[in-house]
Amino acid sequence: MRLVLLGAPGSGKGTQAARLAKRLDIPQLSTGDMLRAAVSEGTPIGTKVKATTERGELVPDDLVVAIVAERISQPDAKSGFILDGFPRTIAQAAALDEILRAAHLRIDRVLELDVDEAALLSRILNRANEARSNGHARADDTEAALRVRLAEYRGQTRPLADYYREQGLLKSINGLQSIDKVASSLLEALDA
Ligand code: AMP
Repeated sequence: MRLVLLGAPGSGKGTQAARLAKRLDIPQLSTGDMLRAAVSEGTPIGTKVKATTERGELVPDDLVVAIVAERISQPDAKSGFILDGFPRTIAQAAALDEILRAAHLRIDRVLELDVDEAALLSRILNRANEARSNGHARADDTEAALRVRLAEYRGQTRPLADYYREQGLLKSINGLQSIDKVASSLLEALDA
């Protein structure tokens, strides 16, 4: 099964993607994790994207599309995957469609975690404070970067819901339920 999980920063997307990946026995492909690994390893891509990711801005489409194209061609992704944090722009979604079409494949389902935006900033600021006190804060967990991440989501990523709805692929789930309830709603949406 080839899935896309959509959701704003703070919607619980990463947590749910990890659970779903385990349950379905397919890899979770998080572009955020891949980019953070590149930054911490100091690779040429990492050096290129460090400042952009730390500001909370999106990195260029061509760069992230190339990373995903390479990753989904690996053996462990042959029978399926769950994309977490990609696509984030219409151009990325179109590029993904093209890559899959060339391999005679397609996205099976797009799941969206719907979270009231008013709840998001306080939720992610709390999470960032917790992470800081545990010594696990991300470089983009500052209030300034979080505001940019939310604005990027609103401007660039939210239009993807319509893009996938028009293709009949979108299922929206209430992301404000408990973690377990969201997880079971996602599984139900896949069965439907
Ligand atoms: P995330 O862990 O998904 O919140 O991603 C962290 C950061 O990585 C984002 O704020 C962007 O700077 C960058 N990033 C991750 N995925 C993408 C993507 N699909 N397109 C552009 N930038 C991305």
